[in-house]
Amino acid sequence: MAKRDYYEVLGVDRNASPEEIKKAYRRLARKYHPDVNKDDPNAAEKFKEVKEAYETLSNPQKRAQYDRFGHAGEEQGFAGGDFSDADFGGFGDLFDMFFGGGRRRDPNAPRKGADIQYTMTLEFEEAAFGKETDVQIPREETCSACHGTGARSGSAIETCSYCGGTGQLSIEQNTPFGRIINRRVCHHCQGKGRVIKERCTTCGGTGRVNTRKTIHVKIPAGVDDGQQIRLSGQGEPGVNGGPPGDLYIVFHVKPHKFFVRRGDDIFCEIPLSFSQVALGDEIEVPTLYGKVKLKIPAGTQTGTKFRLKGKGIKNVRGYGQGDQHVTVRVVTPKHLSEREKALFRELAELEGRKPIEEANDTFFSKVKRAFKAD
Ligand SMILES: [Zn+2]
Ligand SMILES: [Zn+2]
Repeated sequence: MAKRDYYEVLGVDRNASPEEIKKAYRRLARKYHPDVNKDDPNAAEKFKEVKEAYETLSNPQKRAQYDRFGHAGEEQGFAGGDFSDADFGGFGDLFDMFFGGGRRRDPNAPRKGADIQYTMTLEFEEAAFGKETDVQIPREETCSACHGTGARSGSAIETCSYCGGTGQLSIEQNTPFGRIINRRVCHHCQGKGRVIKERCTTCGGTGRVNTRKTIHVKIPAGVDDGQQIRLSGQGEPGVNGGPPGDLYIVFHVKPHKFFVRRGDDIFCEIPLSFSQVALGDEIEVPTLYGKVKLKIPAGTQTGTKFRLKGKGIKNVRGYGQGDQHVTVRVVTPKHLSEREKALFRELAELEGRKPIEEANDTFFSKVKRAFKAD
């Protein structure tokens, strides 16, 4: 079989840029790679051809030589021969494309510890005024017995004999077109490059122990249900000297039996008797700051709202203070004493003598007018 032209093999123009050559090579290498074409004996041959073409065309010197002399130029000392390790610089990318993609993570690289989320339940008042408290957070700590090394105190940490401390194993495969070296994480040391002779009995060799850490928390005044605070660096410890994660405390605020909170404002309803609203009264309204006097003017209707300025909740970010809104609800008596009944009858008689139409006049006249208008 006559040797095919390298540009033809890669399917590129003679003026193709190095980038175009690389792209073509990658596409073809992927297509004919023997690992993905185990059942096709021709694939290995094609792959070798593609590889060889790329070897030459990707090297400016070799390419120039090839352009001038064709395949004959190669016989003059430019033959590819076996692939040496150095050739795998370009191959690394290829293997990443095939096997999982991306660079392998270095198991010894520092990594930030995990964040922890903790839910704290607060009474309504605790959320409004804030407080300081200690909480017990279950989290991992660096093992104090072995200082996180995982080795029993005094026992040695040895360089892994399988991988020589690199954490990687090179698996060589002999193929018709040379050796392929596949690197994978050393299973003996899990890529750490070090092996512990005797494991720490406290942590079982992990270097970490589960503990309950007591943390002092300052709950800001005005915090609301569902809000959270972040305690930087109070999460799980970092790995390989990385920084610790953060602790997030999420607040759950219990409802109040009397107050309803909306933002920084507080809402409540005050039940009043008919005589209180009819004659007017001065009442005491409970607030978060103790009882406050409130004047109810004579003739107050049910549903009337009063505002107690500044009796709401302090804004958690310091933007002022909310108000308390009081809604009047007139309560109709259900169980009247004989004396009360007598008084209500007397009241009813008085109301009866009043021209009752007066109250309803506007309503009826409106109805009448509506019909006349037709
Ligand atoms: Zn330990
Ligand atoms: Zn190893």
